[in-house]
Amino acid sequence: MKLVVVGGVAAGTKAAARARRLDPEMEITLYQAEPETSIGACGLPYYISGTVKSRDRLIARTPEQFGRQGIRALVRHRVTELDVSGKRLTVRNLQTGEEFEDSYDRLLLATGAKANLPPVPGAELDGVFTLRFLSDADEILAYMERHRPERAVLIGAGYIGLELAENLVERGLEICMVELADRILPGYDEEISRNVERHLREKGVRTITGAGVEEILGDGRVRAVRVGGGEIPASLAIAGVGVRPEVGLAEAAGIELGETGAIRVDGQLRTSAPDVWAAGDCVESRHLVSGRPVWMPLGDTANQMGRVAGTNLAGGSDTFPGVLGTGVFKVFELGVAKTGLALEEAEEAGFDAVCATIEARSTAGYYPGGREVFLKLVADRESGRVLGAEAVGGNADKLIDVCATAIWGGLTYRDLMNLDLAYAPPFGPTLSPVITAAGVLE
Ligand code: FAD
Repeated sequence: MKLVVVGGVAAGTKAAARARRLDPEMEITLYQAEPETSIGACGLPYYISGTVKSRDRLIARTPEQFGRQGIRALVRHRVTELDVSGKRLTVRNLQTGEEFEDSYDRLLLATGAKANLPPVPGAELDGVFTLRFLSDADEILAYMERHRPERAVLIGAGYIGLELAENLVERGLEICMVELADRILPGYDEEISRNVERHLREKGVRTITGAGVEEILGDGRVRAVRVGGGEIPASLAIAGVGVRPEVGLAEAAGIELGETGAIRVDGQLRTSAPDVWAAGDCVESRHLVSGRPVWMPLGDTANQMGRVAGTNLAGGSDTFPGVLGTGVFKVFELGVAKTGLALEEAEEAGFDAVCATIEARSTAGYYPGGREVFLKLVADRESGRVLGAEAVGGNADKLIDVCATAIWGGLTYRDLMNLDLAYAPPFGPTLSPVITAAGVLE
């Protein structure tokens, strides 16, 4: 049995390792276009600031380590063509330019996602970057070393832009964020956006919303960014304007895509082509609350899908149930987290939704060092079923993980009111803000 894996970051490597564990005899080859395997992409902003000091620490497993597990991992190798009826693929060695053919019995597509560049003049200038791969971070750091930028413009104010804002301020840069939507973090509740925007101001980060970047100016190298007719001086610009699934190979091979544009798979992560599975950021999933197809490119989900795919590729049987889109990120001293559906999303999905918003603290009121936290809990009016939650501030991650578990388990807000959670003054108020918010809904 010959398994070929295309893509070697989270989903691909997890699947290869799992398949190897379950089937020691299987021949496994992994092709990875980038120079490294198993990189911790989520750590890239912290590598740029120097918070993560060692580049090596971002690489969970090297091709040599895979080799010792009996997995042949070839980096700088791009699969350029896939023939799903003949079960053959064409591979280009990106170092030598040489092309060769390979074949498979089973194949996994774990080609991930790629970052969008804003479609504006000047996007090709030196000093304009996106951040997706370790090689992007290497280039940003080399550029910063060469040109010592003092000001940067971050195009797009989603979570990667915000993580970058914190980490570039950490390096002493003056930051201006430009967001086309009328507020930063457009995927979050308005009160969360306002809260984060206030925090950014306190940290000296300027934000411009409701305005797109019109042009990036410079003579070979970025010197300013034009927004709303005005110029913002900057010698570094990083775009965080979203990602899109890397589906070119699958699409050209005639593999079905879903309505989100990512690869359509069944519960076992099988694609429309025989013996071809797909996992990770290149895959469309199902939202466990709305039941709709969604595309949620997240690292933990990619790992979980990789495990399921690996089991199935080795002849086992496992199912990936779908996602809640639970996510968290940090911007300076704030944690920002979300799970399930926001109020507007729930209404749009056809729920008669109610919500409770509360402000609480991350410790007992009298205990020093506590921070404020804002929590919004969304539930179905009739059944009481928890549909979603968003939080910003101290312990936001903990609160959202409780809510995610509640949604996963099909709990109602009434169940939450008597949930037996841990309490001591340094860790939170007597009743968790989740319980308090559920009580507001009663
Ligand atoms: P990818 O990581 O995209 O890897 C796919 C790999 O396949 C790539 O290296 C690509 O070069 C290779 N490839 C593509 N096509 C081919 C081909 N034809 N032949 C050979 N190789 C190919 N997620 C979170 O959950 N939490 C976070 O805090 C978080 N922070 C992030 C911060 C940053 C800056 C970034 C960029 C991402 C972050 N993510 C986070 C997202 C997370 O990194 C991704 O969800 C995860 O990496 C997806 O893994 P993947 O294996 O599906 O795809």
